[in-house]
Amino acid sequence: MSDQREFSVTGYKSLIKGLITHGYEISSFRKVDTASKHLIVRHDVDMCLDAAVEIAVLENQLGVSAHYFVLLRTEMYNLFSKNGLAAVETLLSLGHRVGLHFDASLYSESELEEAAEWESGCLQCVTGCEVDMISFHRPTKSLLGRAALLAGRRHAYQPKYFTDMAYCSDSRGRWDHGYPLDLEAVKKGQALQLLTHPIWWTTKGAENTVSRLDRFAAGRHQGLRRELACNCEPYREAYKEFTDTDDPQ
Ligand SMILES: [Zn+2]
Repeated sequence: MSDQREFSVTGYKSLIKGLITHGYEISSFRKVDTASKHLIVRHDVDMCLDAAVEIAVLENQLGVSAHYFVLLRTEMYNLFSKNGLAAVETLLSLGHRVGLHFDASLYSESELEEAAEWESGCLQCVTGCEVDMISFHRPTKSLLGRAALLAGRRHAYQPKYFTDMAYCSDSRGRWDHGYPLDLEAVKKGQALQLLTHPIWWTTKGAENTVSRLDRFAAGRHQGLRRELACNCEPYREAYKEFTDTDDPQ
C-alpha cells in the first residue's frame, strides 16, 4: 500500500484533500485573507511544463484553482514553442492562474525593475492575461520578505504572503519545514501558502530526487533526438526508430 505522504500523484492528491478536509478554503494571492483558514496553492515550474499540466488536471478534478509560476529565461523549456504554448493554454483552461517565475540572478540589482516589467510583458503576450503576480526563482535572502512591489506587481515573498501567513515548500523534493499537515500553524488553521514543484509529484510511486531527474532527463534526451530526426534526414536514416517523424521540408 502506498504511503499517503510520499512524493507521488497519489501523495499530492492526499495532501490537498487532507488540507480541504481540515477545513481549508482554496484562495488566491489577490483574495487571500491572512486571518482566515485560507490556502494559496502555488507551483513554481522550474523544470517541466508537462508535469505542471499533469498536476493541474488533478487539481481541476479536485475543484482546486492554483497559481502556476513559469520561467521565461530558462534552458529547461520554451513557452513560445508549440508544446510550451499548449501547456500554458491548458493551465489557463483548467481555471488556474499563470504568473511570472522570475530569475533575479540574471540581472543586477539596478536592472530588476525594468527586467521584471519586460518579462511580465513577454509573459502577457504568451498568456493573453494580465500578469499581476511574480515569484522569485531561487531567491537570495535579501529578496525573501522584501516588502516592495516589483515592477508594480505583488510577489510571493512579500510579508503578507510569507510571514503574515504560514509558508511551506517542497524544495529539492523534500519538506524542510515538515509535512504541511503536521505544522503547528496548519493544525491551528492559520492561512497557508503551500509551494510545490510539480516535477517532484508526477511519479506513480515514491522515487528519490536523483532518479526522478534522471528519468526526466532521459525523456528529454529522447525528445531532442526525435527533433533532430525531424529536422535532419541523415539522422533519421541512421536511427530508423524515428522514421515515422514528419519531415517539415
Ligand atoms: Zn524556481
